[in-house]
This record gives sequence, structure tokens and C-alpha cells, in this order.
Amino acid sequence: MVRTLLILGGTADARALAAAVRRALPDVRVVTSLAGRTASPRMPEGEVVAGGFGGPSGLAGYLRAEGVDALIDATHPFAAEISKSAAEAGQWAGVPRLALVRPPWVFGQDAKVRHVRSMDAAKSALENGGRRVFLAIGRQEVGRFKDLQGRYFLLRFIDAPAAPPPFADCRVLTGPPGTLDEERELLRDYAIDTLVAKNGGGDASRAKVDAALDLGISVILIDPPPPPPPPRAETVEVALAWLDRL
Ligand code: NAP
Repeated sequence: MVRTLLILGGTADARALAAAVRRALPDVRVVTSLAGRTASPRMPEGEVVAGGFGGPSGLAGYLRAEGVDALIDATHPFAAEISKSAAEAGQWAGVPRLALVRPPWVFGQDAKVRHVRSMDAAKSALENGGRRVFLAIGRQEVGRFKDLQGRYFLLRFIDAPAAPPPFADCRVLTGPPGTLDEERELLRDYAIDTLVAKNGGGDASRAKVDAALDLGISVILIDPPPPPPPPRAETVEVALAWLDRL
């Protein structure tokens, strides 16, 4: 029987999983780990640790020291480093690991979505068009677009960035994604003609893509990196069943 579960979090799925485990398996100690980059993250139920482990060996050390006997990697599909750490650390420490990976969004054949494989491919796609761009890719990789001057960028981050973005003509908004109506209004207000976003799946941030498609705005969607190695689950229910079987 599992006594201590570590969830690698930072997503709505991780919060839902922590709550579901506490409800279904109340004797399990649930610890969620956050990277610690967001000033006021939404807190999951159960215990929380933050700030990283120091790579796979640090995570393996934590698993042993805390007597963790199950590990669920419920991080964002684009958080590839921590997922790699989880797979390695689980093996080294002999702790069963599951990746909770939500599927990417799927759109109808007629949807005007351009799928690209990487940030660089998104940048190349923008070079050929897009005068008023909503660059909705989070904080960390905005610098990779810095050569693309001569156009307007709208950026939105959860927290205000430490340094101004590297664009001459831009506006920074802070806060979470909005509803479909709010995203439609935002795209109209800023006269956006191109949206660049990560195909991260899930419900929380899809509205901006649907709003852009409704308005006939070009959408450039970056594919997620390859998923972590199996075993994998696509839903909280399947992850809970995996845990219950251990
Ligand atoms: P990343 O590139 O995969 O990870 C970089 C480093 O941050 C990791 O090596 C690890 O440090 C630390 N880290 C990341 N997630 C952690 C976690 N849940 N608990 C403890 N340490 C963690 O990750 P990222 O893309 O920067 O994402 C950071 C966090 O934001 C993740 O928790 C992810 O779920 C969430 N998030 C990411 C995105 C996105 O688009 N990437 C979107 C929404 C939410 P050590 O090596 O020191 O352990």
C-alpha cells in the first residue's frame, strides 16, 4: 500500500489529482512539488514543497529521504526537464512513477491552425506574416523572438516580468487566461492578427485559441515535446486507479 505520494505539480490536473487522492485514499500522505516560480500559485490540497530538487539525483535523494513510495509527474506537457528528472529519479530510487499527460488540443480539419514543431519554427512562421501578434507562450522563451522587431506584440504572463520584454512595440498584461468572451474581447481590443501559443491541452488556456479561430485570426500552435516514457495516464481517474493498484 502506498504511504507517501509525491505529485510533481504546477497544473490544474495536479491540483485535481491531489484533491482526488485525499478523498479516495485518505490514509495516503500527499505532497505536491512546485517549481516555485509563480509569486502566488494556486495551492493544492495536502503538503507542498517548492523550489526544485537539483536534478534527477536530488529528486532521487528526496524520494529516499521522505520515504516516497509513488511518484506522479503531473507537470505541464512543455515542462520536459522535470519530467526527465522524474523518470530517471523514479528508476534510481526504485519508486514507481506515472506520467499524467493531458492530450494536446485537436481541431477540425477546416480550422485555420498552423501546427509547428518548435519555438524556432513558430518564429520562422511569424517572419512571413503577423503585424499584431499575441505571443501567448509564457515568460521563459519570449527572448527567442527578439529579432522580430517592426511588429506589435501583446504578451500575457501570470506575474509581471522581472525585466521588460525585448520588443520596441509591445504591451504586457498580467493574470490568468480568460473565458471565451474575455479572450475574444482582448483579441479585438488589441486588433490582433496572429496568435502564437503552445498546444498544452487541457481546458484552462484553450479559450484564446477558440476565440482567435472564431474571429478568423491566424493561429500558430507549437506542438508539445515528446511525452515522458510510459506508464502514462491521460486523466486523473486513470492516475488514481494506477495508485490504488500499487
Ligand atoms: P522545466 O523546464 O521542465 O523544469 C526546469 C527545472 O525547474 C527542473 O529541472 C526543476 O528543477 C524545476 N521544476 C520544474 N517543475 C517542478 C516541479 N513541479 N517541482 C519541483 N521542481 C520543478 O519546467 P518549466 O517548463 O519551467 O515549468 C515549471 C513549472 O511550471 C512546472 O511545474 C510546470 O508544471 C508549470 N507550468 C509550465 C508551463 C510551461 O509551458 N512550461 C505551463 C504551465 C505550468 P530541479 O532540476 O532543481 O529539480
